[in-house]
Amino acid sequence: MSQVLEPDSVRREMYRNQVVEHGESFLSDIDTRKAYVLTPDKGAKIREFPLSDSGIGMSKALEIVAEAVDLPGLNPASGGHLGYIPGGGIYLSALGDYLADITNRYAGMFFPNPGAVRMENMLVRWMADLVGYPETASGTLLSGGSLANLTCIVTARDAMGVKSAVVPHAVIYLTNQVHHCVTKALRIAGLTESHVRYVPTDSNYRLDVSALRTLVAEDKAKGLKPFMVVCSTGTTDTGAVDPVDQVADLAEEEGLWLHVDAAYGGFFLLCEEGRAAIKGLERSDSIVMDPHKGLFLPYGTGVAIVKRGDKLAESHHYTAAYLQDTLLQQDEISPADVSPELTRHFRGMRMWLPLQVHGLAPFKAALAEKLWLARYFHEQIIAIPGMERGPFPDLSVVLFRYVPQTGDSNAFMHKLLAAIHHDGRVFLSSTQIDGKMFLRFACLSFRTHLHTVDLCLKMLKECVEKVKTQQWA
Ligand SMILES: *Cc1c(COP(=O)(O)O)cnc(C)c1O
Repeated sequence: MSQVLEPDSVRREMYRNQVVEHGESFLSDIDTRKAYVLTPDKGAKIREFPLSDSGIGMSKALEIVAEAVDLPGLNPASGGHLGYIPGGGIYLSALGDYLADITNRYAGMFFPNPGAVRMENMLVRWMADLVGYPETASGTLLSGGSLANLTCIVTARDAMGVKSAVVPHAVIYLTNQVHHCVTKALRIAGLTESHVRYVPTDSNYRLDVSALRTLVAEDKAKGLKPFMVVCSTGTTDTGAVDPVDQVADLAEEEGLWLHVDAAYGGFFLLCEEGRAAIKGLERSDSIVMDPHKGLFLPYGTGVAIVKRGDKLAESHHYTAAYLQDTLLQQDEISPADVSPELTRHFRGMRMWLPLQVHGLAPFKAALAEKLWLARYFHEQIIAIPGMERGPFPDLSVVLFRYVPQTGDSNAFMHKLLAAIHHDGRVFLSSTQIDGKMFLRFACLSFRTHLHTVDLCLKMLKECVEKVKTQQWA
């Protein structure tokens, strides 16, 4: 019976063809498929098929996937996904995962699978070079920005000597625009009892350095121990890029660990326009980037890099008796020594394969295009009467809101958002800033092009009209 788990080449071909066909049918109309689909049952069909001793077969399985998984809700693979921070799903990453899974290389330790580990380390080094970190830097591929932020924050805590007795006196500085996974990480890292100071932001939602300076001075005067400041380049909500360079001046003077959350914006460093917007990253102590955002990989890859790699290792290395052989032969650092994980998905392959096969140029071009599209949207959105827009985008997020001639803007905006979701041709998300509801245009999918943005503008115009004329209650 267990032989079923090892299909012969004929069966492998059959399964493979079925899966590839499914993928092809998904991609064949990706340009016209809705970005958001409301279905009454929201994928509940999954539950109609409990696991059993006899399998349901591939055809049935794929049928369930098409109906219950591929259809309902947001389609993150769509270029019309302009909400949250879009990802992507480049095809060669899927093939990279296929290879990684077939060979099942063990990317946790150098000794068993040195090539896989060298591949990951090479990718980390490439990103460290992009940031401008020295040779001492070390990092690790994780599942995403949340775990990467946690990994850096734990490292900062330990490197700065914030042991339990210090925790109640320790101070962390961030803005209210920081990603919530950072505050979540502070909790997981045992820093709940530390002081968290929300540094005011300027009119572009960027960290106000002089306010930070005052706060740090006040805290030091109180005898507290300021130890870390978190910058974002850019923020998820508004795409704002904090002035890392100036914060670094202060961090150096005051002896603070400077952590940069570049999960969203980090890879804009690959294009000239992006580099102009993000300055001073090389002066930070640790950084997070999300290849599953800015490199358009499918979900599941973030990176944490720490300038002083020994600090990352001090917080994360471990040895166990049954792993003693692994120490015999170590030309390069093992991911397990710089990560909370041991056995892990061989993440390098899904990133290395597309970057090597396509080269960097198309990635750079796609990123420059996203910046351009955001500026275009910022320019065009006010052509719809009643629309107000947020600041000129630092990167590729644009805030906007509709202000009706009479009545409450927020109430209108709630209806407008519902109308947009019901339409579904493109997907937008909303946020709340100082009590005002804004819609966000967040452009980062490699599938988003000028025609997508024009469709978005057209749809917005139509949805405003629908809400205005009470066709949408
Ligand atoms: C997306 C994002 C995160 C969280 O990363 P995940 O990959 O979703 O875990 C953190 N910070 C910023 C700025 C982000 O945009």
